[in-house]
Amino acid sequence: MTETAQFEQTKVLIVGAGPAGLGVSVALKQAGVGDQIVVDSREVGAAFRSWPKGMALLTPSFFSNAFGLTDLNAIDPITSPADFLKTQHPQGVGYANYLQAVVQHHSLPVQSGVAVIAVKKESSAFRVTTSKGSIKADYIVWAAGQFFHPRDRDFPGAEHAVHSSKVEDWSKLEGDNFTIIGGYESGVDAALNLVNRGKSVRLISRGERGHQTTLTHLNHSALGHSTACARCSLTQKNFHC
Ligand SMILES: Cc1cc2nc3c(=O)[nH]c(=O)nc-3n(C[C@H](O)[C@H](O)[C@H](O)COP(=O)(O)OP(=O)(O)OC[C@H]3O[C@@H](n4cnc5c(N)ncnc54)[C@H](O)[C@@H]3O)c2cc1C
Repeated sequence: MTETAQFEQTKVLIVGAGPAGLGVSVALKQAGVGDQIVVDSREVGAAFRSWPKGMALLTPSFFSNAFGLTDLNAIDPITSPADFLKTQHPQGVGYANYLQAVVQHHSLPVQSGVAVIAVKKESSAFRVTTSKGSIKADYIVWAAGQFFHPRDRDFPGAEHAVHSSKVEDWSKLEGDNFTIIGGYESGVDAALNLVNRGKSVRLISRGERGHQTTLTHLNHSALGHSTACARCSLTQKNFHC
């Protein structure tokens, strides 16, 4: 077998078929860069398909495309998760379905079930080892996200906590009193879900970058569940932060 038969060759290799990777793929295609491959170790929108039941985007999706205003959760400005899913508050599986629809609409060159294992820089290109063979690429866009690489060993004893990426359904968690560590998107979503189920919640945050963990901030962060609903949930007496 000659060397050229042993690997695929492309100008741009995008690693990760989440919103970042697919958004770059669409933008490159629109800029005339059709010579590209998108690989994902799982499937399109895998992170969102793994979200706990009930977890929703915190930024509201608005039915505003008809008025020329971009849906803030769109990865391609001409599309709208709100219009596609008929909701302003997309949940994980719905958003993954929206991403899949964008892939089909633009015929994006996605290869699912292909995990990148190693990248080697050669003189004028990258040699990428994947679970399904080698790819030679002029450029690599690394968009592999955080969800599948959770920081679940950050401090001694962290193994006693359940990382939010491991929760399938908030309603199946046993107990009435919960302490949530982390006051950003996942933590706020967890607080909303638990408080809405009548649980007592304490949220601890070291102050995520650019945010002060105050009730006011949490209300703003939780806008995706509508301000009224968030305010109602988080000002209940069983929520502390
Ligand atoms: C509760 C919550 C609410 C949120 N609300 C919003 C919101 O309203 N608006 C917003 O914009 N953002 C929101 N976010 C953040 C948003 O979900 C993330 O920023 C986004 O998913 C990151 O996208 P990504 O493409 O970088 O990564 P991901 O979506 O994690 O995609 C990464 C992909 O890379 C693949 N991958 C990983 N390793 C490899 C490998 N070695 N080889 C091949 N493939 C690999 C994975 O399978 C995965 O499909 C929210 C997050 C949470 C948790």
